[in-house]
Amino acid sequence: MPTVAELLRTAVERLRGAGSESPRLDSEVLLARVLGVDRTTVLAHPEAAVGDGQRIAFEADLVRRASGEPVAYIRGFKEFFGLALAVDPRALIPRPETELLVELAERETMFRVAGAPRPPDTARLRIADVGTGSGSVAIALAVALRRRHSLDEVEIIAMDVSADALDLARENAVGHGVADRVRFVEADLLPPVVAPPFDLIVANLPYVASADVDGLPIAASFEPRLALDGGPDGLDVIRRLIGRLAEALAPGGAALLEIGAGQGAAIAELATDLLPGWSCTLECDLAGLPRVAHLGDVSGRGRG
Ligand code: GLN
Repeated sequence: MPTVAELLRTAVERLRGAGSESPRLDSEVLLARVLGVDRTTVLAHPEAAVGDGQRIAFEADLVRRASGEPVAYIRGFKEFFGLALAVDPRALIPRPETELLVELAERETMFRVAGAPRPPDTARLRIADVGTGSGSVAIALAVALRRRHSLDEVEIIAMDVSADALDLARENAVGHGVADRVRFVEADLLPPVVAPPFDLIVANLPYVASADVDGLPIAASFEPRLALDGGPDGLDVIRRLIGRLAEALAPGGAALLEIGAGQGAAIAELATDLLPGWSCTLECDLAGLPRVAHLGDVSGRGRG
């Protein structure tokens, strides 16, 4: 019987040859999965013998990975914001940089919920997650708000144009105990009429320029193109949403939109054109790249 070390050695070579950017990590994670242990245990026992059944299962996973399939789809889940979310080709795999969107949404929500007195009959804060995909942003936000004892103060509506993605998102909401707190609605961005309007809109929409989609790592070719392709300049879908913000957001409302690293200037220009009088600030990710646009209705409409 081969040992863990022997299997890893050949797996790493094979995945490297197949073009994986992280052949060692991929091999360790996949072997740990078939052995039913965590990665640390695999690393701690290189001499352990691997039985036939497990070797064959590992081989099958390696074939999938060598064809470019993302590790997250092979494992069936992805860690995001401290949660294990079910993922499959129905939706985009949550990216680490999108955790910033959740953090900002949590901060914005807490500011609104805790920043002013809310008498018992105050309406719940209405939050929309537009293009929810696997449900990652809406669910991570709900879990974070529950931790802050503030989930009762909000109503979260997660929308997607893909009924398949919504099924996956619902499964994830059940898995994390927030299915009674997040409502899922099939819609092309937003419903035709938004009533009442939202206080906060968060969205990680497709923003990769069409010509760049095929240049993404091969793993992305296993994901729904609809979730990545943002048209000629990558901003078609975001532009459509921005065009609806004045109507979809309550006075004083805000939108948090994930963008590509090179789209900061373009988004600021869009905001100036489509939302005169609104604020537009850019938040950077951990790499220091602009990643989330914060669009705020500071126009004072509906006030006073
Ligand atoms: N950041 C993602 C990628 O480069 C794109 C996600 C998106 O379009 N929303 O794969």
